[in-house]
Amino acid sequence: MPWCVNCDKFLNPASVGESESCPDCGSKIEVGELAKNEVDETVKVPWHFWVGVGAVVLYLGWRLIQGVGLLF
Ligand SMILES: [Zn+2]
Repeated sequence: MPWCVNCDKFLNPASVGESESCPDCGSKIEVGELAKNEVDETVKVPWHFWVGVGAVVLYLGWRLIQGVGLLF
């Protein structure tokens, strides 16, 4: 989200345009690299996340089999 330090408010990315300056005061705005990085991290799930998920699923599956086995 673009942020104008002068006006102390968030701006609509569409109204900012490619000049990257505030439509109200004309000063340069901050585009917010942090927000971009956050979006990237949520979209791209690292491969080791799925390794962890697979391990948990295998473990829970094994515990389920063990649990069912104890009933008989
Ligand atoms: Zn401004």
